[in-house]
Amino acid sequence: MKNLRDLEINDLKKLLEEMGEKPFRAKQIYTWLHQNLVEHYDEMTNISKGLRDRLSAEYSVALPETVEVLTSKIDGTKKFIFRMQDGHVIESVWMEYQHGHSVCISSQVGCRMGCKFCASTLDGLARNLTSGEMLGQIYQIQRTTGARVDNIVIMGSGEPLDNYDEFTRFIRMISDENGLHISRRNITISTCGLVPKIRQLADENYGITLALSLHAPNDETRKTLMPIANKYSLSEIMPAIEYYFEKTGRRVTFEYSVVEGVNDNKAEAMELVKLIRSMKNGGKLQCHVNLIPVNPIKERDWKRPDRTKVEAFQHILERNGIAATIRREMGSDISGSCGQLRRDYLETEGIDSKA
Ligand code: SAH
Repeated sequence: MKNLRDLEINDLKKLLEEMGEKPFRAKQIYTWLHQNLVEHYDEMTNISKGLRDRLSAEYSVALPETVEVLTSKIDGTKKFIFRMQDGHVIESVWMEYQHGHSVCISSQVGCRMGCKFCASTLDGLARNLTSGEMLGQIYQIQRTTGARVDNIVIMGSGEPLDNYDEFTRFIRMISDENGLHISRRNITISTCGLVPKIRQLADENYGITLALSLHAPNDETRKTLMPIANKYSLSEIMPAIEYYFEKTGRRVTFEYSVVEGVNDNKAEAMELVKLIRSMKNGGKLQCHVNLIPVNPIKERDWKRPDRTKVEAFQHILERNGIAATIRREMGSDISGSCGQLRRDYLETEGIDSKA
């Protein structure tokens, strides 16, 4: 069944007009769905029973069902497992920082990008999530925690730019003044580097922050970690990143998952300096590097380097004028990140993760 929460306000207006209703009803219903975050038609008290019945015959207003919430004793991070209407299961994370509450959401069930260290992609892509399912993760988290979400990162399972239309609809809806009205400046999307889509996103200027999963300073090493590197070389990706910065003025993040013996040596750090400097020299790019010590997954034998090695890598970048941070691990006591929680859940429930 279709879900009413997948419709932007203008599409809702059209639908209601086709049903012979007044356009202002669209705003009322949209507010129920996207500000009051209701889960049932009968909560829409200013909408007639007749209209609610006619809508519910064709459209559901169900939210993803929360099947598990794990709370970290260390830092209060909450990890959520949600079940979609068709039974598919995804994960999202809620984190408390000094500067507010952040939510990390999934954009697809599984992923087809095949990055070698990532748990989300082990069984490939099951399907795209709809805009309403992306919103629904945030809505359920807000309903559970009772706290307003300030920042959103699309860094859960999936490649958001591989689901471009639903993803951009989600951006329009989450920033809509009739919905949660979250500032686009507080939204970060992470991509493995789908060049044409990065350019399209720049042209459409959504004003969101872009993070690129770089993970290596050259194509050869990158190919050992990320199959997408066979399709787009750094000589295509880097100009697209510059283009994004020029169009939006938003500082770009380079994510660099540090894997022992693969990309964590001084030589790679120096090569990364060179790569980024060549872009910064023309004053064309403001950026910083986020080092992510790899989260080992049991299906592969990648190892996390010693902390001192990651710090040495960071210092080389910083000494050379490149801002670099090491990602703080959140909720380390409640299962690994990046799609591992979902897999653990499916395994203990005895569900085939391909299903
Ligand atoms: N498809 C998007 C979002 C992926 S998840 C992308 O590729 O950017 C967000 C980040 O976590 C990406 O940089 C991804 O490469 C990284 N990541 C995934 N699994 C990881 C792991 N096990 N350890 C460290 N980083 C990981």
